[in-house]
Amino acid sequence: MINDPFESSVIQIKNAGAKLGLSVSELDRILEPQRVVKVSFPVKMDNGMINTFTGFRSQHNNARGPYKGGLRFSPDVNESEVKALSSWMTWKCAVADVPFGGGKGGVIVDTKTLSKTELENLSRSFVRAISDVIGPTKDVPAPDMYTTGEIMDWMVDEYSKIVGSKQLATFTGKTLGNGGSEGRTEATGFGGVVVLEKLSEVKQLNPKETTVAIQGIGNVGQYFAIFAKQKGFKVVALSDSKTAVYNENGIDVERIIKFKEQNKTLVGMPDVTFISNEALLELPVTVLVPSALENVITKDNAEKIKARYIIEMANGPLTPEADEILHKKGILFIPDILSNSAGVTGSYFEWYQNMHNEKWTKDDVLHKLEDKIGSAFDAGYKMMMDNNTDMRTACYMIAIKRVNDAMKDKF
Ligand code: NAD
Repeated sequence: MINDPFESSVIQIKNAGAKLGLSVSELDRILEPQRVVKVSFPVKMDNGMINTFTGFRSQHNNARGPYKGGLRFSPDVNESEVKALSSWMTWKCAVADVPFGGGKGGVIVDTKTLSKTELENLSRSFVRAISDVIGPTKDVPAPDMYTTGEIMDWMVDEYSKIVGSKQLATFTGKTLGNGGSEGRTEATGFGGVVVLEKLSEVKQLNPKETTVAIQGIGNVGQYFAIFAKQKGFKVVALSDSKTAVYNENGIDVERIIKFKEQNKTLVGMPDVTFISNEALLELPVTVLVPSALENVITKDNAEKIKARYIIEMANGPLTPEADEILHKKGILFIPDILSNSAGVTGSYFEWYQNMHNEKWTKDDVLHKLEDKIGSAFDAGYKMMMDNNTDMRTACYMIAIKRVNDAMKDKF
């Protein structure tokens, strides 16, 4: 089974590249990152000791604009993972048509072992270590696993001190009071619902009769549920890591989210029917929305999927083998690089506001997101129909063509 995200994306790039007629040398230069920086840096701990940490920044491709992508703080961070994730960001930015390339980075650290002062020292020291290769027109990092808006604020401050002027646009995902953007929190879930609306337009679905099951009630899953309900779709299932709530006539999304916020779990919620996360994936719904983990639909359960459509909101929830089975079964899946690209598009809007000293309202941001994601869906759908392929291959074809075109005169 192929369940390594980088391996999966290499297969997808090669497939789509072959359909576009790319030469081996053209493929070669878009597969590997252009630069991977590994740094070792000192951090002052509360007990007065200086500890040394290791961090990475992978810069996959900048043919269409500055590298863009998150920084994660996790014990599992490694070079191969950041390389894979930086490549993914290149395709996501290209399919959403935002003028960025792909980047990703992180530090090997368990943040639970650090005090707040140590976390700030680590964040600032990491920025000093990578300051040569980042900047508003070079590489623009953002939060990712175990990094937050507050950490981005420290990083902006440190970078600004190094270059001698305030440089808000060097990082996105900052807090609202420090150059962050309205609407960024909701952006990814909202963009997913734009995809859902587009899908119902082309497939002529009536929202009221369109049942939606969502795996995950984190940032992405909960905003997807809220906006889907607002737009009149029938949300019938929502889950966290332990259990799923299901009602074929529709669930009370707001009550479930409130219960989760107050109790940190859905377990024990009164007056609801529970099913397992595995059963949620196999519900006879119109649209299935995996919004939590990678590799949840594989060759082992793809045959059992009964949804007519899948919107991938998590990164990599379907394996390549699952893609093949689902495509044969006539299930249309909208790939992560399109469905959740409103996240990076929201980051682009933050960067743009910082670069131009502007401040947009939440409504401005959501309207612009609707336009951008709507156009990306239209382009992907047309490419799919014109080439008689699946939507993932179509989106990769668009992204690869855009990056390849931007690289034509670069050698
Ligand atoms: P999050 O940490 O806020 O939420 C994760 C959710 O997954 C939680 O509801 C958790 O309960 C659930 N979960 C964990 N283990 C599970 C399991 N075994 N079975 C079912 N559910 C489980 O994360 P998020 O920001 O909502 O991100 C979710 C996914 O979307 C990730 O794949 C992430 O990479 C992707 N994504 C997020 C954004 C963004 O802007 N937040 C953008 C693009 C992609």
